[in-house]
This record gives sequence, C-alpha cells and structure tokens, in this order.
Amino acid sequence: NDSKVLKYVEDFMANVKAKNPNEPEFHQAVHEVVESLAPFILENPVLMKNKVLERMTEPERIISFRVPWVDDQGEIQINKGYRVQMNSAIGPYKGGLRFHASVNQSILKFLAFEQVLKNSLTSLPMGGGKGGSDFNPKGKSDNEVMRFCQSFVTELERHIGPNTDVPAGDIGVGGREIGFIFGQYKRLANAFQGTFTGKGAEWGGSPLRPEATGYGAVYFAQEMMATKGESFKGKTVAVSGSGNVAQYAVEKVLELGGKPVTLSDSSGYIYDPKGIDAEKLEYVKLLKNAIRGRIKEYAEKYPEAEYHEGERPWSVKCDIAIPSATQNELNGDDAHTLIENGCICVSEGANMPSTPEAVDLFHEKKILFGPGKAANAGGVSVSGLEMSQNSMRISWTPEEVDEKLKTIMKNIHAACVKHGKEEGGFVNYVKGANVSGFIKVANAMLAQGV
Ligand code: GLU
Repeated sequence: NDSKVLKYVEDFMANVKAKNPNEPEFHQAVHEVVESLAPFILENPVLMKNKVLERMTEPERIISFRVPWVDDQGEIQINKGYRVQMNSAIGPYKGGLRFHASVNQSILKFLAFEQVLKNSLTSLPMGGGKGGSDFNPKGKSDNEVMRFCQSFVTELERHIGPNTDVPAGDIGVGGREIGFIFGQYKRLANAFQGTFTGKGAEWGGSPLRPEATGYGAVYFAQEMMATKGESFKGKTVAVSGSGNVAQYAVEKVLELGGKPVTLSDSSGYIYDPKGIDAEKLEYVKLLKNAIRGRIKEYAEKYPEAEYHEGERPWSVKCDIAIPSATQNELNGDDAHTLIENGCICVSEGANMPSTPEAVDLFHEKKILFGPGKAANAGGVSVSGLEMSQNSMRISWTPEEVDEKLKTIMKNIHAACVKHGKEEGGFVNYVKGANVSGFIKVANAMLAQGV
C-alpha cells in the first residue's frame, strides 16, 4: 500500500515537473498536497478516473501583460503583470495581488494553488486565484506607486469583476495600493462594485480586514494549543515579518497575555527581550505603514532591543512561532533550533514559510504545526465577508465580523482535526487542511463535468 502511494506521488510529480518546467515553488506546493491526498485519491477511483487533481494543478487561465509607467525622473519603466485564475469550481476567483521584485509565474501559481484549497476551507463560496507584478515598491514615491497601480489595473480591468475575479492585497499591496487600483478601476468600469477587497472602511471595506490575517493566525494557534490544555498566557512568541500580518498577530498575542519578542524584514530581525508592548507596536505601525521605514529603526528607538542584520528570528528562545514574512523563510535547521529551544507550536501567518524539511521535522517531533492554508485563512475569510457586505449593501460592526472570523477559524481547525487525526491522536494539520479543502472543490468539479 505504501509503495502504491509512493509511486502515485512520484508519477504525479514527474508529470507536473515535465508540464511546468523551472517552477520550483509551484512544484513544492503541489508536492505537499499530492503527498497528503494520494491515499485518499487511491481509495476513490472516481477521483482517479476523472483526473480531478490533474485538472486542479493546471490553471484555468493565466493572464500575463505589460505594465508600462513613467517614473518621477520622466523615464519609462516596464514591469510584468499577471493574474493566475486557478479554479472557479466553487465561486469567483479570489486571491491577492503581490508586488515584489521576486514575483514570477512559479510563485504566483504556487500561491494561486494554495488559495484554491484555503478558500475552500473558509466554507465561503470563493474560487482561487493570485496575481501581481515584479514591481518593487521599495523607495518609490506615492506618485510612482499610483501611476504603476493605474497602469496595472488598466489592463487587468477587462479580466475581473465582482462575479468573475475579486483581487485583494498581499505582500507589497496594502490599503494605499488597493485605493489607487480601485480608483482607476471604478473609472474604467463606470461602476462602484465589490471587485476588490481590502478597500478602505469609508468606501466599501469591511471592518477588521487589515487585522484579519494576523488575528486569524493567532486564533488558529489558540485552537491548536487548547488541544493540549495550553494557552497564550505567559508564552514567549517569535513573530517574523513586520507588515500587516505580523503587526496584528503581535496585537492579538498581547491581548491574550502572551509576550511577542521579535519582528523582521528582508534585512534582519529585532529581538526585544522585554517584549513588544502596545506602545512599541504603535511605533511599528507608524514606522512601517506611514514612514515606510525599516525594522532596524526599532532597535535605534528602543535600546533594550537587539538588531541582527541579515538573520531571521528562529534562534530566539520561544514557546510559539508565527512566521509571517514570506515563503521558505524557515528551513530545516531553523526548525531544529526552534524545537531544541522548546517551541511547541508553529502557526503560519505567511504562505508556505516553512520548507518541506522544516515541516517534516515538526511532524516527526509532534509539534503543533498549522500550515498557512489553514492558519492564515482569516484574511481571505474577511475578504469573503467584505464581498457579502458589498452584495447586500450593508456593513457589519467590528464585533460582528470578529465573531464570524472566530467561528470560521474554529471550523477550519475542527475540519483539520477531522481529516488529519492519526493513530495515537496526533493531528497532522497539513493532511487535514489538504484533504478537507480538496473534497469540496473535487465534488464541485465532478458535478460540473469535464
Ligand atoms: N493575500 C491573502 C492570502 O494569501 C488574502 C487574499 C484575499 O483577501 O483575497 O490569503
């Protein structure tokens, strides 16, 4: 039986690699899912015969386009723009836009593939997609960002819509960018409609959308910890990243009585042994969101903190880790160090931040490990709630949205336990998330024919 599973995974991956050469991130994301699903698929001949997973790993459509714009010096710049429309079996394509120098087709396909299963897990009717550009917002003026966003959406506009494809933010795309994109979209479409989520509170956005991913990752960790009779109270927490996800993860950890001690960016990390308290967090929000500075400045303002150039925070002693920066930011060696130092729970705020070696080690050592597609689903969940509010032309209160978010995260956790519980009671949340996310999409695809 084991050898049948191994052969299935091997053959499947050989085919994926042949069809999608030079896309390592996409291969990595698919491999993890195929490993989880192989036993389930082999037990269900109807899935084999209908090639459901083969179809799911081929995007329904990829749009790739030129984004020309003029910089402040009057020089013409050209970037690549993309939208990967991965799967629409259970709802319109839904997923963020990433603006980062590293963006390419492989990264967007991995993210879009993850998004399909993540969105299914939320229990809301959303298909999966992802888009973005290799535009690097670092050091660009507001006007440059605006001109870039306007050019980007001028092409994208014809491919999206409230019932077709609903983009949102991701790395490099926050409230400012969604504002510029939405403003230009509205002029082109001549309609005020909910084609984007992450909009401002005054113009169709949902309460708690900025907070949702970070809060959700902490709620998910809380659920995992509760299975061991544990909570955040008095726990030391290492958080990576310093953007939207990391900031609100820290905020929720503080609220639950934990002690967040790290934050990072692509240049290094800060370690504050006294803890990042509410006042320091306010400074981080100002530094990152308004000044658009670097995390290094935290250690200049608060001398009790250390700054470690060019390193990630995983050598710091902690009970809980919340990687909230980017893909593959936590490798096998880091996982080893975390476990040696007593870490008992990892909840992924980013998408695929742990390498396969790290994930294997977490499973081997029976650490509570919540994979991104479950643990960080709070963001897209509140995006789904934003779509509902836009369709009904109403707004819920922050309390109402928070209640719904908590319920969704609890239900995702329960679904992971249901499909991921192994002999001896250990919960493999990776398997649980992959199987339960897959079932709904697979059933929809079977019902809708080839
Ligand atoms: N970029 C976020 C994610 O990875 C949110 C997507 C959305 O809100 O559509 O799930």
